[in-house]
Amino acid sequence: MRLSLFKSLPFLPQAIHRRWGFRMLLPGKSQQSGRVYLVGAGPGDAELLTLKAWRLLQQADLVLYDDLVSDELLAMLPAKLDKRYVGKRCGVHSLSQQQICRLLVTEAQAGKCVVRLKGGDPAVFARSAEECAALENAGIAFAIVPGITAASGLSAWCGIPLTHRDCAQSVRFITARMKCPQSEPNWANLVLGSKEGETLVFYMGLNRLDLICQRLAGHGMAADMPVAVVENVSQLNQQRVTGQLEDIAAKVAARQFQGPALIVVGKVVSHRVKVSPALLDQAAALSGNRGY
Ligand code: SAH
Repeated sequence: MRLSLFKSLPFLPQAIHRRWGFRMLLPGKSQQSGRVYLVGAGPGDAELLTLKAWRLLQQADLVLYDDLVSDELLAMLPAKLDKRYVGKRCGVHSLSQQQICRLLVTEAQAGKCVVRLKGGDPAVFARSAEECAALENAGIAFAIVPGITAASGLSAWCGIPLTHRDCAQSVRFITARMKCPQSEPNWANLVLGSKEGETLVFYMGLNRLDLICQRLAGHGMAADMPVAVVENVSQLNQQRVTGQLEDIAAKVAARQFQGPALIVVGKVVSHRVKVSPALLDQAAALSGNRGY
């Protein structure tokens, strides 16, 4: 009896957390115990990382990063930090979502401080909910550090407001890729929202740009509705194309975008102001050769 109690002691905090929802911290143990931070890396410019994210990256034992995390940021990470790519490129997963969840759990159970680094914000189309659920079920302590989502980066780097008192009272982030590949967004509802002054921002929509425009037009959106498509937001190779619902797909096809890209549909696009993103980059501003 005494022996079995002894044996189960290491699992006691997890059991208590699972049963009653609060954590038991063993004295002197909290610093070493495994934990996970789901951290937003922002859209690409490394300086868009938060100070909190930066501090945690200095302390981490292991970082598991996605495809959208920029090379510029990866190059700045501590050399001794164990960095593992767990992303998806051109539809090919290096690890399945289930495997990633399992890896987070096992590495934290091994006592490591793990940073799960995701492009943009971890709460926006990033499957964080599944990873959080896996950690919660395993009784592992975890926390989330927000990041700048690609739409906010686009707004700043292109001078396109997401809302505007004159024409856009709300903004909607939409995924063009649903859980079930055959399903599509509720187009009628999106067009209604747009008519009532909502900006529509499509994530993961580049390959479906033509379809998106056709569906919006088919549900009554004006052919001259302004649209912007922006690739590699906040990075040196950022590219932007603006047009209207009726011609944007052809314009973008002519430029052969590879992605990642966002599609902004709404009158805010015609309120674009001429920002100078080069001013945001000290090195490039000094040499004067940033080519947005
Ligand atoms: N969590 C991310 C979104 C991940 S979904 C965020 O908050 O930004 C992946 C999609 O995000 C891409 O297909 C693209 O539509 C968009 N995206 C991410 N980074 C981008 C970038 N630097 N430039 C343009 N679009 C980007």
